[in-house]
Amino acid sequence: MAEATGEQQQTERGADVVTLEKVVALCKRRGFIFQSSEIYGGLGSTYDYGHYGVLLKNNVKAEWWRAVIQERDDMVALDAAILMHPKTWEASGHLEGFTDPLVQCLGECRKRWREDHLRSEQLGAEGAEGEIRCPECGGELSEPMNFNLMFETHMGPTRESGSEVYLRPETAQGIFVNFKNVLQFARKKPPFGIAQIGKAFRNEITPGNFIFRTREFEQMEIEFFVPPEEAPKWHEQWMEDRMRWYTDLGIRPDHLQLREHGADELSHYSSATSDIEYRFPMGFSELEGIANRGDFDLKQHAKFSGEKLEYVDSSDGSRYVPHVIEPSAGADRATLAFMVDAYDEEEVEGRERVLLRLHPRLAPVKVAVLPLVNKDGQPEKAREIYEDLRKRMPAEYDAGGSIGKRYRRQDEIGTPWGVTVDHQTMEDDTVTLRDRDSLDQSRIAVGELGEELERRLAAPWSSPQPR
Ligand code: ATP
Repeated sequence: MAEATGEQQQTERGADVVTLEKVVALCKRRGFIFQSSEIYGGLGSTYDYGHYGVLLKNNVKAEWWRAVIQERDDMVALDAAILMHPKTWEASGHLEGFTDPLVQCLGECRKRWREDHLRSEQLGAEGAEGEIRCPECGGELSEPMNFNLMFETHMGPTRESGSEVYLRPETAQGIFVNFKNVLQFARKKPPFGIAQIGKAFRNEITPGNFIFRTREFEQMEIEFFVPPEEAPKWHEQWMEDRMRWYTDLGIRPDHLQLREHGADELSHYSSATSDIEYRFPMGFSELEGIANRGDFDLKQHAKFSGEKLEYVDSSDGSRYVPHVIEPSAGADRATLAFMVDAYDEEEVEGRERVLLRLHPRLAPVKVAVLPLVNKDGQPEKAREIYEDLRKRMPAEYDAGGSIGKRYRRQDEIGTPWGVTVDHQTMEDDTVTLRDRDSLDQSRIAVGELGEELERRLAAPWSSPQPR
């Protein structure tokens, strides 16, 4: 492979340019994410993923599965139903306690807010004493009331009492109620974990910030069962492993922080929780929670179901209820974080280019094959190369519009490599291989292309943006 002269030289990169508005606009422009039911005026804070959005989020989930299942031998997978026996939510405490403090503006706008959020915004901390006012119109606020976030529906043809079921507000409980099944069939013993990805639903009082907080979202959750005395050690280990997952996939380390929950913030079941927070445009906010849940969940489900949920050591008959470490992440929030972190703008030869510097493994399309001109056999040759490459990785063929325009489009969807077929290709069977981040262009034989791209895809990668 010989180096060719660069297509363009990039100008020096500036500071962080990303805003949420820019990411939302790009998502719409390039078909990543749309407002749900848009033709009816949209449904508040629900979103639909378009082609590139589906591919990106699938890659995020696939990387999670890879890290927690494929690359370990102490984890198994599960896919539990969204609708669960209503007793589940009694046992877990959700029916009683899965509430947020709701206040309503008594002034002009009558809007509803989360009291704890307003306290930290206006007084500096959740639970801080002092008067808070409506952020919209300055009006007085009602006394807080506990608002349950679970969506309720009915099972079966009648709406009579006793037929209530809930859309699960977290995937975790599906794991706990399957503990016995898994223990029996997976031939595992603590320490071992169960991993699951699935939809969860919360009737959030104030959803917002695009896909950061929605009422329907996907969680990627692990319940890791350990001997009780090993829980603190595994809690530490999971914090480290999960932080590394984000940085290995290109998130800049200084855009991540671990924040330990204060005693007043801890859930009733948790002895310690730390959040992995990402520097979103609206400030550092939770990306993933990693909790030490003790034996709360298994004991509760044992009590409510009458089943023994414990580990019995067959060698000596000793038994115990395992403690649980729970790394709980949001697939949509992670997708947003990867997009925000990858977003960049720069000036190249007097023109602005917008790009997503996504980790190649996350990029929806890995390589675009473009004929330089739409004649002289170039489109046919490009199509042939594309059909060969797509057997190895997600590829795209694009022959429409000027080459600059086509590159801009690929930059915006984060395609790491571009292959251009030109007049020279027709003579010596080489193509130009363009790198999204450095804009380097090199000449490579068509016969070597597939292997070279696979090598690049497997290589470690870190964001070229300022750290
Ligand atoms: P928050 O404080 O932001 O409401 P939480 O502490 O209630 O979050 P968990 O119950 O720990 O969240 O859920 C685990 C993960 O699920 C979160 O870290 C987040 O990534 C994701 N998640 C939770 N609620 C939502 C939501 N409404 N929309 C999108 N993702 C969510």
